[in-house]
Amino acid sequence: MIVSKAMLWQRQRLQRIREWENTRRFPDFIDESAISGTLTENRRPSREAVLDIVEKARAHATTGELLSPAEVAALTHVDDPELWESIFETADWIKQTVYGNRIVLFAPLYVSSTCVNNCAYCGFRSTNSAVIRRDLTIPELQEEVRVLVNAGHKRLIMVYGESPDNDYRYICDTVAAAYRVKDGFGEIRRANINAPPLSVEEFRAVRSVGIGTYQVFQETYHRPTYRAVHPEGTLKGEYDWRLFSLHRAQEAGIDDVAIGVLFGLYDWRFELLGLLHHAMALEKEFGVGPHTISYPRLEPATNTPLASRSPWLVADEDFAKIVAIIRLMCPYTGSILTAREPAELRRKVIRKGGVSQMDAGSRIAVGGYGRMNEEHQPDRQQFLLSDTRSLDDFIYDLCQDGYLPSFCTAGYREGRTGANFMPLAKHATVKNFCIANGILSFEEYLQDYASPRVQQIGRQKVIPRYLKWLEENIPPLAGRVQGNLNRVREEAQRDLHF
Ligand code: SAM
Ligand code: SF4
Repeated sequence: MIVSKAMLWQRQRLQRIREWENTRRFPDFIDESAISGTLTENRRPSREAVLDIVEKARAHATTGELLSPAEVAALTHVDDPELWESIFETADWIKQTVYGNRIVLFAPLYVSSTCVNNCAYCGFRSTNSAVIRRDLTIPELQEEVRVLVNAGHKRLIMVYGESPDNDYRYICDTVAAAYRVKDGFGEIRRANINAPPLSVEEFRAVRSVGIGTYQVFQETYHRPTYRAVHPEGTLKGEYDWRLFSLHRAQEAGIDDVAIGVLFGLYDWRFELLGLLHHAMALEKEFGVGPHTISYPRLEPATNTPLASRSPWLVADEDFAKIVAIIRLMCPYTGSILTAREPAELRRKVIRKGGVSQMDAGSRIAVGGYGRMNEEHQPDRQQFLLSDTRSLDDFIYDLCQDGYLPSFCTAGYREGRTGANFMPLAKHATVKNFCIANGILSFEEYLQDYASPRVQQIGRQKVIPRYLKWLEENIPPLAGRVQGNLNRVREEAQRDLHF
């Protein structure tokens, strides 16, 4: 009975998708033979050519320009370790220039895992009977959110499967329910979503409940690989419906959109050019590039052989290169390094790759935060996580490494989204807001949730260091931040932001 309901829903939806495909008004932007040709033509860049590209990327930090496909292709083929040091150092420099030395923190919240699709790499695929699938009820969801806000989180990425029981109405209801949770000073101030592609009307409904960013990963831009891992006749099998989902989100007025690739399905060099062409297409059509880029790597998943045996799995060394090239090719974008990666590698790649956002204290089973003491629940997860440090331990490590942990959600609530956000990021002035709001939101964490050791390092080292940065760089703002800090500390005021 349930199966036939899902099949009927899928069939009707497929029909609507095909109607949309027949009337699509945007030109295709992934030309496989052109991408392969660019990679071949640029496979032996000279040292001088690489250094020129690196210089150009530095200059782009304050203009927001993208590198060209030929330049990105050349970077992917660099094999001189000395040149790589220069690329890594530049990635860090660009990140510091655009966003300052802060890391924005968020938590993934797996809301539903029932799914009609059959993606070969995913533990939630419909034919995988080894994993329990379910959709949270509203009270269950609010319990999960309560655990997260009581750890100190303010920002979520809510993650959904695709089935008649978790369609756009369910997304609207669950996002609204997450925002309603208030517990002491605890609350969610920005709920981003990672959800299957929707129609323009459905996106409008989702926008109306106040989502932050809409994120969807193409998984692979390479059509033959896409077809091989997403069976025909499934919703996810529709490559173009997915490729243009961010175009439809923009049409519906969702102006913070996020792209990504699941690295390990196909050649990482090709995928990087796919991401670049996607960013170029969004800029061309809407004047707004990707708000963030994600680069998940294929992780083992229960009863999912492809996840461990794909011929394209990416080694750690290449992974660091991917992250750094993304920072050089698209200087203004938020760069998201997830807890799929082990703690030690994350610590290295933050700096080498110019990362700007990370999740911490994550659980990825549906209902996983209710069983916080179980790091892994393989029979309920889409894949297995590597970095299971608690939020507080994670923050301690960030502080020790010199970063400003930030729970800032001000940009979106101050209207700095889409076309209003882009000039600030492209001209590297957004960091003034980032540091000021980072300090204030971190101080809230220190007041309300931090362990004694994080309070100590935060108060003695981190806050003074970044206040000093403000004093040296933007003295008038430093005075206003100090005033607000006093209000957070002495008058228990919260959510003060610029
Ligand atoms: N079901 C929605 C979809 O496919 O668009 C939501 C996304 S899914 C729950 C979140 C992302 O996890 C996928 O887009 C994919 O990139 C990633 N993912 C799936 N299986 C994975 C695996 N074995 N290892 C790492 N990431 C994986
Ligand atoms: Fe479903 Fe998404 Fe997993 Fe594919 S990746 S099976 S669409 S949850």
